[in-house]
Amino acid sequence: MTARTISILGATGSIGQNTIDLIARAPDDYDVVALTGAGNVAQLAADARRLNAQVAVTAHDHLLEDLRTALAGSDVHAAAGTAAITEAAHRPADWVMSAIVGAAGLAPGLAALSHGGTLALANKESLVCAGALMLSTAQTHGARILPVDSEHSAVFQALVGEDIASVERVIITASGGAFRDWPIEDLARATLDEASSHPNWDMGQRITIDSASMFNKAMELIETREYFGVTPDQIEVLVHPESMVHALVGFRDGALMAHVGPPDMRHAIGYALHWPHRRDLPVDRLDLAQIGQLTFRAPCETRWPALRLAREVMQAGGLAGAVFNAAKETALDGFIAGRITFPDMAAVVEDVLTQISAPSGQIDAPMTLDNVAHVDHLTRQTAQQVILKRAG
Ligand code: NDP
Ligand code: MG
Repeated sequence: MTARTISILGATGSIGQNTIDLIARAPDDYDVVALTGAGNVAQLAADARRLNAQVAVTAHDHLLEDLRTALAGSDVHAAAGTAAITEAAHRPADWVMSAIVGAAGLAPGLAALSHGGTLALANKESLVCAGALMLSTAQTHGARILPVDSEHSAVFQALVGEDIASVERVIITASGGAFRDWPIEDLARATLDEASSHPNWDMGQRITIDSASMFNKAMELIETREYFGVTPDQIEVLVHPESMVHALVGFRDGALMAHVGPPDMRHAIGYALHWPHRRDLPVDRLDLAQIGQLTFRAPCETRWPALRLAREVMQAGGLAGAVFNAAKETALDGFIAGRITFPDMAAVVEDVLTQISAPSGQIDAPMTLDNVAHVDHLTRQTAQQVILKRAG
């Protein structure tokens, strides 16, 4: 068997490291083309050396010398800057993991799609910001997008061999995050540390906070529509504190197919890596008799207004997803910096959505990378002003 060429965008993050964990177990099966990171140059260089990558790229120009030093004596080429990341993504590879966090993952994701092959997509922001553009780029270049988000991998697996027309509903589950059982009136006192700890999953800080606010699930509602072409009213969210059932697909004959597994992203990553085959993966096997029971409840939209906002965004269409994502990212920065409270994040996003979407017609522009970038920039400025008003 010839080795597959692969690149990992966001190699130093939680998804990137889990991906490396899998490929490092079978190094002869893979030729690593590019690894990218941002601030964690030491990890990037160590992995690039270990995996003998062709190129290692940091997003930060000022870290180029550090990266060069860390790679001295190896054959790995060092590069820096956002353009260099997109260039690295352009390098042909059979399989590319898109695991940069935030809208910064969009341009590299599109670059990877432009040479065909498979894009394993963890970066949900690119689908939320520019789903139609991602899908049309994949189609134009004969590329395949495979979902890595656990819920969407689960739906994808439940749909193998099925006709999408026979799907009645898609149910994605949510653990409810750190504040699932807090009194709602206490949320304004939630600290960054409290919001950054997830009951079940070990993930990057931003997605962990997004899980507590349900912005992560809100993004995933939009992601579900983009991946599977179902209508918003066919998609449901179900709170499931144990995070073992990742998603369920309901068919028109009443059958409900659930995907059940431990909360370990290496399953979804490994499924996308080996698709259409299933290979051994180093994930725990569930002992359901020992677990005994799994629980479910409906989500409360007062506690988690992000879910309602996502439905409004889907209704608005066009570039509303790009506004939603950029407003959410800026509000999250505001919370991390201690400028706004936890519930303020949803209030900021709602305010920005009203200001940008309704009167300006901005969201009706054609979905090109430039227009998405423009709306993203405008939204971040507006969100900063809204945050300033709240903080002041
Ligand atoms: P992390 O924060 O752990 O990692 C993010 C990665 O992106 C790191 O490699 C980081 O580099 C890099 N990065 C950060 N900013 C930039 C930038 N401006 N330009 C280029 N690269 C950048 O995130 P996760 O791994 O948790 O998440 C990655 C993506 O996967 C997100 O879209 C998330 O929503 C999605 N996802 C994650 C899941 C999880 O279990 N973690 C589950 C499902 C989806 P560095 O660390 O060197 O600074
Ligand atoms: Mg998920």
